Amino acid sequence: MAKQDYYELLGVSKTATADEIKKAYRKLAMKYHPDRNPGDKAAEEKFKEVSEAYEILSDENKRANYDRFGHEGTKFGPGGFDFGRDFSHAGDFGDLFEGLFGGEGGGSIFDTLFGGGRSKRSANPNAPQKGADLRYDLRITLEEALFGTTKELSIPHEHDCPDCKGTGAAAGTSRETCKQCGGSGYVVSGAAFFKVQSPCPVCKGTGSVVRTPCRTCRGAGRVKGKSTISLKIPRGVDTGIRLRMAGKGEGGLRGGPSGDLHVVIDVMSHPLFERDGDDLICTVPVTPDVAALGGEVTVPALDGMAKLKIPAGTQSGTMFRLRDKGCPILNARHFGDLRVQVVVETPHKLNSKQKAALEAFRDAFDKSSYPEARKFEEYAEKFAAEREKLSK
Ligand SMILES: [Zn+2]
Ligand SMILES: [Zn+2]
Repeated sequence: MAKQDYYELLGVSKTATADEIKKAYRKLAMKYHPDRNPGDKAAEEKFKEVSEAYEILSDENKRANYDRFGHEGTKFGPGGFDFGRDFSHAGDFGDLFEGLFGGEGGGSIFDTLFGGGRSKRSANPNAPQKGADLRYDLRITLEEALFGTTKELSIPHEHDCPDCKGTGAAAGTSRETCKQCGGSGYVVSGAAFFKVQSPCPVCKGTGSVVRTPCRTCRGAGRVKGKSTISLKIPRGVDTGIRLRMAGKGEGGLRGGPSGDLHVVIDVMSHPLFERDGDDLICTVPVTPDVAALGGEVTVPALDGMAKLKIPAGTQSGTMFRLRDKGCPILNARHFGDLRVQVVVETPHKLNSKQKAALEAFRDAFDKSSYPEARKFEEYAEKFAAEREKLSK
């Protein structure tokens, strides 16, 4: 049977861009993927065909050869292609699917399919391995974030059992070759093209089993522990900042190096300050007389109390800026600004004397003292007149 044209197979034109080819292949591969069509031989065949077409058309040189010589052009020279035997350069296929199946999972279906081309598994299951990284979420106060501090953290982690050095075998004994997999650590299922290699269920991929378990770890080779770590938090940290402590994560396997500890900072909210990048925002209530007559307010700042002059006639909501009185900038010597928002606080629970004073206050003013209120009235009147005209 004559081979179908690669462009036709992918449903793209001969002038398709690399991106178009990738998109077309992705769609077809998703549709015919054996994981989605278990036992469907036709889908499996189709998947093989579109993968072959993509393998050629996604490679500039192979595509050029194919364009010139047709299917024959893919069989000679360096980079010649033979689907059945050589799929090693399909290693990037996993990348193509990342995001579709969600991160790591993108690679895994292809790992099983192509015998672990992209696998991060070590060739030797008994080789030393780096311990896992740990994440620790640390809540701190705003003060701690602004001034820096040192925190004692108690980190639960796992490490190789000191009594058996991680082997799991009791003192004087050692691990024995697994009979199930003959020591390879893998079992193979399926047939022909779609062979699936999976870790041996008996020895969990290590190729060996424990006959006399170590008492300390009950044969697991790992024990849980806790370590206390002193963490210096630099001033200026903010929510989401990640502090990495090399070698403070899970202990390595079989003598491998420890993983890292990532401390993720979460700064609590504060009754006085809100943070906006490197600026601090502080809302200060002032009395109506200070807003009208002018005056001075005291604002808490990092280096003590700061004085802020309020000019006469300050409106509620006005923002003032105190330069360099905000957050320390992480790993730098300068500071953000302190922005002070003035809000007029209306007095409440008035006694009769206070009421009389405010009534006298009211009588002493006319509209000319309230330009905003006048403007508002004008606009409201205009609107009413327009409404009158247009709603008829
Ligand atoms: Zn042990
Ligand atoms: Zn085994």
